[in-house]
Parts: sequence; structure tokens; C-alpha cells
Amino acid sequence: MKGVGNVMEQDGIKVIGNYVAGQHCVARGTDGHQVFNPATGEVSAHVRYSTVEDVHQAICHARKAFDSWSEVPPIIRARKMNSLLALMQYNKEALAAAITTEHGKVFSDAMGEVERGIDIVEFACGIPQLLKGDFSDQVSTNMDNWTMRQPLGVVAGVTPFNFPVMVPAWMFPVAIACGNTFILKPSPTDPTPSLMIADLMQEAGFPDGVFNVVQGDKVAVDALLDHPDVQALSFVGSTPIANAVYQRGAANGKRVQALGGAKNHMVVMPDADISKAVDGLMGAAFGSAGERCMAISVAVLVADAADKVMPQLTQRAQQLRIGSGMIDDSEMGPIVTGIARQRISGYIDAGVAEGAELLVDGRDHTVPGYEGGFFLGATLFDQVTADMKIYQEEIFGPVLCCVRVDTVEQAIALINAHRFGNGVSCYTRSGGVARLFNRTIQVGMVGINVPIPVPMAWQGFGGWKKSLFGDMHAYGEEGVRFYTRQKSIMQRWPEDMADGAEFAMPVAK
Ligand code: NAD
Repeated sequence: MKGVGNVMEQDGIKVIGNYVAGQHCVARGTDGHQVFNPATGEVSAHVRYSTVEDVHQAICHARKAFDSWSEVPPIIRARKMNSLLALMQYNKEALAAAITTEHGKVFSDAMGEVERGIDIVEFACGIPQLLKGDFSDQVSTNMDNWTMRQPLGVVAGVTPFNFPVMVPAWMFPVAIACGNTFILKPSPTDPTPSLMIADLMQEAGFPDGVFNVVQGDKVAVDALLDHPDVQALSFVGSTPIANAVYQRGAANGKRVQALGGAKNHMVVMPDADISKAVDGLMGAAFGSAGERCMAISVAVLVADAADKVMPQLTQRAQQLRIGSGMIDDSEMGPIVTGIARQRISGYIDAGVAEGAELLVDGRDHTVPGYEGGFFLGATLFDQVTADMKIYQEEIFGPVLCCVRVDTVEQAIALINAHRFGNGVSCYTRSGGVARLFNRTIQVGMVGINVPIPVPMAWQGFGGWKKSLFGDMHAYGEEGVRFYTRQKSIMQRWPEDMADGAEFAMPVAK
């Protein structure tokens, strides 16, 4: 095996490895995962899974690096983050191309993903301001009380396939700027961007051991969850795994934020601008082939909105331009893997069997010149009801289910009864409807005439119900709180202290 930077080869196939203590290295596990180019269906690389020992070694290096990194003044940590910001901006296209090659999403969408990740690096550049504590003067005579926030130690992030740059960036910039050291366990489906980030971190001047990458699956994640030196873990992925990770981490006394799956609804009121609502549905349902945790997978059409929306939506779904993500005019790329395509097709079969009306069927879609690729067409169901599996479960593909209701109250009740509560949107021209919707909807992120309301870097991201386990949202000030703990200090000096022991609970005097 020869290694050059992050590119290693074995028998002519690229082998994706780990990055620990400033070095690229190959995990010792015998298991692994094939990485595909979803547009062609060809294998482009092989990821070797980490063993428990590999993970322990990474934790050990991160633990050592923490001692000095946590002592670096926040302004100097921020300056390194600023260097990373410049490097990520300079390498935006390369990162986006790596995403499209392994994930399949169209290049313009991958560029958007990288930009939203960079936003969080930029937010983390303001860490000195974010770490400022509170000061209370004279809480008792000649005594002051203040708080400070201190880093936790080694923290870890476990991320999904669908945003291989943006979701890690929800975590590591804030964690590291706060003074922690970080271990990233990316998805084995598209692992290359994690190693490109590692190279950029090194170039930006972060000391060895501050940012580490371990490839792998459950074995690696459990090793992180069970090790006493890992203080906190951020997870983003599907709900069953988020739940299991939360439980195991919490049982081990760790801080865990585990963001799970979704079933996001868009309500279209009869007074909405219908053509804008159809634009919103098209982009949010079929952008990134529906493989977004904020994708709209259910349209809730109120009263006669359905009669106006459905004809336009059907025509637009049939005309969607599907092709390789690297081809300029593609609006939707392939599905991430052949297995995922099969799962999504299975849901379409189930919808037909359950009695939903299939208006556009994407199951047999092929793209000339890319016959080996994992393509599906856009799929549109009408007359979907709340008891159907295609309504209840997360499909995570380009399948839009339309449900018809009579009133906004029924729309809100339907959404509030769903077990997921990640994102939601309402298209209307009525301030009264918008206010009612904002106040009563049981969902973490809400858009009014905004189809995918992903909060900005300084606002924080998180769903409700089965879409988030834990109590802190990702990034923003919530992220700073998650990756630090508060210390409260009360202070006075001997010349101001009365003599004698105090046996009663001290009070202000
Ligand atoms: P996934 O749950 O299969 O994998 C997520 C991560 O967990 C990966 O790193 C994976 O290697 C690891 N993992 C897999 N099995 C594990 C196990 N048994 N124990 C511990 N770790 C394990 O998710 P995915 O398919 O990569 O991503 C799609 C899912 O992620 C969708 O459900 C989507 O809604 C969700 N997602 C949610 C958000 C959000 O913010 N709520 C954002 C993006 C994606």
C-alpha cells in the first residue's frame, strides 16, 4: 500500500483511511464499505473500518492535544478559524465536486452545502465574544459573582451521508473554537470530504490532535460512546440510531445531542401564491433527490388549493431534469446507492398497494449514457391519508405525498400528530394564519413562504419530537452551550471578611 496525502491505493482501488494526530493512516479493521459514484454505479474507493483500538488511539491523541489547545487564548483560536475560513472559501469547488462524486447531488446544490458549512466556520470566528461570561458586582457586601464557560475536553461527531461537509461543520468549528479537541466519524458512504477538511485544518495551522477523523460504523461509534475521555457526542442521522446513540451516551454520563429523521410538511392555503408554492414544493421535495432532513415530503393542500396545485405540480414533476450531478442543467441527481434506490422503490410499491393515487411514477427512470447509475424519477402521490405507511415513515427519496384537508386547523392537527417534528412550511398571504401556524405548530423549524427553513449559522438548528434526542440544538449559541460548561465563581478578599464561622446558609448582607 502506498500513501500520498489522503490518497492511498490497494490493488488499484483508492483506500479511504483515518486522520489522527496530524497523520493520514489506514484503519486496522478488516471490514469496510464500498464507495460508489452514484451517477455511474461504479465503485470509486473502499473505506476501511476502524477497530476499537484505532478509536482509542485517536481519543488518546485528542486528549493530549486538549491540554494545550484549551489554554490557547480564544482570540488566537479564532485566528486559526479565520485561516480555515479562507481555505474553505478557496477550496469550495473542490469540496463540492467531492460531494457530487460520492453523494450524487447536483454540483450547484453541493456548492450551497459547502457555503452553509462555511457560514458556521465564520460564526466560530467570533468565539471570544461568544465565550464572554456574566459578572454580578456586589452580590453581598464586598463580594462579586461571575460565570465563565470552559471547554469539555474530547468531543465527537457522528454524521450522515447526506451532507458530508455541512453537517460536520455544524459541529467541529464551534467545538474546536470553544477549546475542545474533536473526533469526526463520518458516514462511510461519502467519506472523502472529511479527509479534505482534515487537510485544510492542518494547513490552517491547527495543532496535531485537535481535529481527527476515524472511519467506521457501529463499532467505532460505540467505542466513542463508551470511552470515559469522550465528554460529549453530537450525532446526526436516522431516528432509530439517534435514539440508540442518545441512550448509550447518556447511560455513560455523556452530553449527547442526537438529531434524527424527519417527515416535513408544507401547507398550501387557498390564498397562497400558487405558482410560488409549486416552485417551493418542487425544489424542496426533489432537490438533492429528497435526501435532505429538511426536504418536504408531504404537501398539505387546504380546501380548493389542491385543485390549483395538483395540475401544475404533476406537469412540473414529469418535466424534472434528471441526470449526473456534474452536468450543468441537471435539477436532480441520482440516489446515493443502489440499496437506497431499492428501499425508495419499495415505498412507492407500498403506496400503490395502500390505495394512494400515483400521479407520477419515478420507478423506471433511466438516464441515457448513465444506465449503471442509481437514478429514480420524481414520484407524486395524491389522496394520501394519515394511516398510510408512505405518510408515517421517512422515505428519504424523491417522493412527494399530497394530503387534502378542509381547514388550516385540520392541517395543524395532522402535522402535530406526526411523530417527527423537524421542519415545516406554510404558504399563505394571511398574517393571521401565519401567526396561528407559528404559535401552535409542534415542529422545531418553521418557514412562512419559505420551503426549507434551515436556520442561519448564528440561530441554531434542531427539530422536536422524534427528530431530536437531547435538549440543545446544533450550532449557534446553543452549540456554544453544548460544547462548554458553566463555572460560577464567588470572590472576596480577607480584609473585607468578618471573623468567625458562619453556620447558617449565607445570604446577601
Ligand atoms: P444513519 O442513521 O444510517 O447513519 C448516520 C451515522 O450513524 C453514520 O455515520 C453511520 O455510520 C452511523 N451508524 C450507522 N449505524 C449505526 C449504529 N448501529 N450504531 C451507531 N452508529 C451507526 O443515517 P444516514 O442514512 O447516513 O442519513 C440519513 C438520515 O439522517 C435520515 O434519516 C435523515 O433524516 C437524517 N438526517 C437528519 C438531520 C437532522 O438534522 N435532523 C440532518 C441530516 C440527516
